[in-house]
Amino acid sequence: MRHITVLSGGHGGAKFIDGLLHGIAAGTLPGVDPDATVTVVANTADDLWIHGLKVCPDLDTVMYTLGDGLDHERGWGRTEETWSVKEDLEAYGAPNTWFGLGDRDIATHLVRTQMLEAGFTLSQVTDALCERWLRPRYGAGVRLLPMTDDRVETHVAIADPDSPSGRRVVHFQEYWVRLHAAVPAEQLVFVGLDEATPGPGVLEAITGADLVVVPPSNPVVSVGTILGVPGLREVLRATSAPVVGLSPIIGGNHVRGMAEQMLTAVGAEVSAAGVGLHYGARAAGGVIDGWLVDSVDAADVPRLEQAGLRAAAAPLWMHSSEQTAAMAAAAIALVG
Ligand code: GDP
Ligand code: CA
Repeated sequence: MRHITVLSGGHGGAKFIDGLLHGIAAGTLPGVDPDATVTVVANTADDLWIHGLKVCPDLDTVMYTLGDGLDHERGWGRTEETWSVKEDLEAYGAPNTWFGLGDRDIATHLVRTQMLEAGFTLSQVTDALCERWLRPRYGAGVRLLPMTDDRVETHVAIADPDSPSGRRVVHFQEYWVRLHAAVPAEQLVFVGLDEATPGPGVLEAITGADLVVVPPSNPVVSVGTILGVPGLREVLRATSAPVVGLSPIIGGNHVRGMAEQMLTAVGAEVSAAGVGLHYGARAAGGVIDGWLVDSVDAADVPRLEQAGLRAAAAPLWMHSSEQTAAMAAAAIALVG
């Protein structure tokens, strides 16, 4: 295998890709060339405009993680971060300071916003930012592609007794960062998704891949939105490459994040098998061929096999690059 494409959200996807790259470099992935290239198609439906800046959380998390600039304790944003701008915005009583932007992180958003306003597309801007974060380490070995250059935003309907309709709709980031996903998500609305066009190179990256991986990313608001870009699901179903996924749910719980709330909002079962069946076997109208679950979910394997998937169990906690490379190897072996 020479070309691997990964459909990624932020933290879960980025950690997986780091392990995948580790495995490629170490030569521990079955059937994968040592000079294999990785194309990351990243979710952009979490993006938001805030303080006049365009912020792309998942693109940045992938970029910072692979470029060794991510604060691993927080799981987002930059290392060696300072917060002077945020403190001064708060001193002004400015709105939306619940969305924490560190000073270094702001530099990324300033460059992005200026380039977008100068007429560059999000794909072009992302490529320019990767000149700093990815190219020095990986050369042409890793590409990061936004799923679309169009504006797409996930919004969440929540209960609000003070509103005449009994409901209020907030941006996904407000639901997650400000409200900590502590109230039920009654409905998800993917604004702009049905009219979006796949970003340049996105469909080709799936058609031309030797392997497509669905990492342990959020199945609804990360991978689900990528799959919702018109045309993408069709090429995924048609590609000659095997498609393998890894469960983001271990023992009935999401490891971190809000996958439980999101799966519940779309009526999917919150379990390793539930997510595999939510994606579904390509042989039966779905989008994956193989589904790897954690060892604690080994009992789910027969149910997945009955649904036409290749399935197996292996440890899926991403504790280290080595451990995550072993996960990638197990997933590849499943469909290789
Ligand atoms: P986000 O955009 O930052 O929310 O990141 P992703 O969508 O890429 O991934 C978030 C999901 O990763 C979470 O909902 C978890 O279910 C999953 N996750 C995080 N850490 C781990 C881990 O160590 N192992 C597994 N299997 N899943 C994980
Ligand atoms: Ca995200």
